[in-house]
Amino acid sequence: MYLMLIGAPASGKGTQAKLLTEHFKIDHISTGDMLREAVTQRTELGQMIEDCLKHGRLVPDHHVMQLVEDRLAHDDITNGFILDGFPRTLSQAQAFDECLQQRGLSLDAALYIDVSDAVALQRVTGRRTDPLTKQVYHLTLNPPPPEILDRLVHREDDTEEVMRERLTTYHLEIAPVLEHYEHQNLGLKVNGSAKPDKIFEEILGRLESIPQKG
Ligand code: AMP
Repeated sequence: MYLMLIGAPASGKGTQAKLLTEHFKIDHISTGDMLREAVTQRTELGQMIEDCLKHGRLVPDHHVMQLVEDRLAHDDITNGFILDGFPRTLSQAQAFDECLQQRGLSLDAALYIDVSDAVALQRVTGRRTDPLTKQVYHLTLNPPPPEILDRLVHREDDTEEVMRERLTTYHLEIAPVLEHYEHQNLGLKVNGSAKPDKIFEEILGRLESIPQKG
């Protein structure tokens, strides 16, 4: 299965990507995770990326494409992948079409998780990650066990102020990306305000109904 997950920040892409990865035994490729990893390397490029992340701006397309292409070149993706948070611009989507074509691959679906800005904002401000297990919690919607509270991390870009910037950027860029996949008959929209297991069920149902590749 070759899938991508498109949706606003905190729309639930990471949660669904994890479930899909386990279900289909495919690779999870999150550009947000790869960029956060690049920041830890303290290079000049890492510092530029950190600045983008801190302010809720998109990282320039060519850097993101480089990371994605490197990952596809080095990982075993013969079972498939789920791209999480990529593409975020039309030019990334177009460049990615070429990248797939060169490898003789084609997407099965571009899943779009639809949530309102209000829901995304509520989710993001309470979101906390366990650095040991990478498990993501929400302080009220999906509370962590009290004994691990102290070690949980609140992402620097998960504040209301930065989130408003991220949402503005998202809305500016995403419409042509969605259209791009609609034209290729790959777009599958799901309601992202339901509970994670319900969204997952809906996604699996929708994927079952897509025509199998020849
Ligand atoms: P995420 O973890 O997907 O919410 O991404 C966190 C941040 O990483 C975003 O706010 C952007 O600054 C950056 N980012 C992630 N994916 C992309 C992408 N495909 N293109 C540009 N910037 C990205």
